[in-house]
Amino acid sequence: MHCPFCNAPETRVTDSRLADEGSQVRRRRECIACHVRFTTFEVAELSLPRVIKADGSREGFAEEKIRYGMQRALEKRAVATDQIETAIQRIKRKLLALGEREILSRLIGEWVMDELRSLDQVAYIRFASVYLSFEDVKAFRELIDHLEKE
Ligand SMILES: [Zn+2]
Repeated sequence: MHCPFCNAPETRVTDSRLADEGSQVRRRRECIACHVRFTTFEVAELSLPRVIKADGSREGFAEEKIRYGMQRALEKRAVATDQIETAIQRIKRKLLALGEREILSRLIGEWVMDELRSLDQVAYIRFASVYLSFEDVKAFRELIDHLEKE
């Protein structure tokens, strides 16, 4: 590829390795002309399904919403940012593996809960209490029963 700094037509790859559990290739490059070094990431171009919301409306999959919801649930908890990112990548891989063009938002919510449950029980309950809205007493009881069993 061209050098993004001096626009020289040739750059040399000095290092190439897998990143993000193998879903990306990270390459270190050096410009042959100006010798500046920079990094590129190569990812597969895949399209994620659209999300069907509870009211039946559709919207594009928004990774940012999942990240925000998980970060809020994990506030002041001892979980590394990398672990959150890995969980989000796992959810995206599941979405791609489904190969559907549309998916219920509820299913994504359940996957997020699955991830949080294995990361941090407090975050899991925080998220579930908002997500399932505990007016639904039955859902809350099922959740607690489920936790007690584990
Ligand atoms: Zn250059």
